Amino acid sequence: MPMVQLKKTPLPALDAIQRRDGFQEVNLGYTPAQALAEAQRCLLCQEPACEDGCPVGVPIRDFIKLIAEGKPLEAVRRIKQVNSLPAICGRVCPQEHQCELRCVIRGKQEPVAIGALERYVADYEMNDRPGAAGVSSGHNGSTSNGHKASAKVAVVGSGPASLTAAGDLSRMGYQVTLFEALHLPGGVLMYGIPEFRLPKSIVAAEIDKLREQGVEIRCNTVIGRTITIDQLMNEMGYAAVFIGSGAGSPKFMGIPGENLTGVYSANEFLTRINLMKAHCFPDYDTPVKKGQRVAVVGAGDTAMDVVRTAIRVGAKEASVVYRRTEKEMTARVEDYRHAAEEGVIFRWLTTPVRLVGSGDGWVRGMECVRMELCEPDESGRRRPMPVPGSESVMEVDLVVMALGTNPNPTVSQSTPGLATDQYGHIKADPLTGATSKPGVFAGGDVVTGSATVILAAGAGKRSALAIHRYLSEKLNASVPGRAAGSH
Ligand code: FAD
Ligand code: SF4
Repeated sequence: MPMVQLKKTPLPALDAIQRRDGFQEVNLGYTPAQALAEAQRCLLCQEPACEDGCPVGVPIRDFIKLIAEGKPLEAVRRIKQVNSLPAICGRVCPQEHQCELRCVIRGKQEPVAIGALERYVADYEMNDRPGAAGVSSGHNGSTSNGHKASAKVAVVGSGPASLTAAGDLSRMGYQVTLFEALHLPGGVLMYGIPEFRLPKSIVAAEIDKLREQGVEIRCNTVIGRTITIDQLMNEMGYAAVFIGSGAGSPKFMGIPGENLTGVYSANEFLTRINLMKAHCFPDYDTPVKKGQRVAVVGAGDTAMDVVRTAIRVGAKEASVVYRRTEKEMTARVEDYRHAAEEGVIFRWLTTPVRLVGSGDGWVRGMECVRMELCEPDESGRRRPMPVPGSESVMEVDLVVMALGTNPNPTVSQSTPGLATDQYGHIKADPLTGATSKPGVFAGGDVVTGSATVILAAGAGKRSALAIHRYLSEKLNASVPGRAAGSH
């Protein structure tokens, strides 16, 4: 009888000391032999619970079986029937809360490393160009079968929701134009998640594929300012619009001193470095403060990315300051572990109450109070309360607020008839993304608030299908005697 491998096949990673000085990807990915060993740990359950844990229902059992049979290209083709971005999701999905949480061997053994296997087959495809061309041409279960739909669809934003919607719609034969406010497409995948977790070449490859498919990408175009949604639909001939403009508007604490120099929002700090290469100033135009003593407030994915980036651009001491404990933090477990290995200090049960400046307007200190956890609040997590008299001042020269985000209101405020909730999220049907405005669909963080890549991608996929149905019905209604669904 073969010996049962209780632990996941370890994912090779760069050494913690070595990686502190650069932006190379930390996880190195499985070799074919490692992927095979890990695939063989899967029990190939009759009713795979892991698939219920994936927000888009990736056919996990089938793709792992194909790896075990030595067919990685078939495996990736199977995944792409429901998830267009496996190289990205395999790297950044919080698997421990999704698919791997539901793996039946979890408990007695470590769950199967589903994310690492997904990444393996996606990377295999990318590195196998002739095979890749064959695989990508027919995937996704799209209706692209030679019909030439002439309808034009506009896609706002270029994060995972928009990339997925644009890809699916163009494969269905629509003329898709993607409008992005920044000078590079990719959304958070490009400007937020750093290179050491998600190499930009992978995101760029997904975008190149869209261009090859015929998607037109217009950067430096702010919808709601440069062009409005109404202009797209009434003057420029777009029959439908998908809004995937994300939630990029930062939140601050509202404490004294937040306007001092050296205090950034996480989005600004990461964008300066990831997109503008500010750490290479003056070789690049944009500067950024390279703090020696850095405090990052918050303990989600964004906070881990910021603090690990700060280390890579030279921080001598980098801390995460969080008002709850390790148990309540929302960051991916792997990123937390990597941050700890890289020397990040975690100050749990601590919250800032005031930032202290020096005479020159720069931040120099952060006054904090200790917190204690009381009864659970409406989120189900224990409510943190300040401990009176526990104030102390940390010496800092860079503070980054990673406290979550809200949608930027530019699109919604410039679009009459587009309903939003009290936080500015666009109201959309969860199954189709249909909004209150006919022909306008929305999905991803702009609807749900800050969530995950796979949830945004899933929303883009559902909306692409809904837009196809909407336009098919519209076309059929305009052609006398044409049967519904024959588009
Ligand atoms: P976004 O990715 O936010 O893209 C929206 C795009 O729309 C942006 O490019 C923006 O410039 C553009 N835009 C906005 N307004 C306009 C306009 N008016 N006109 C034109 N374009 C516009 N999720 C995970 O699953 N795993 C992780 O490890 C993870 N880490 C994260 C780390 C960071 C630092 C951040 C910020 C988020 C992270 N997330 C992670 C969350 C995840 O990235 C988001 O949930 C996801 O990117 C949302 O996708 P989206 O397509 O809705 O929007
Ligand atoms: Fe797991 Fe994410 Fe892949 Fe779904 S897309 S199977 S949640 S890694």
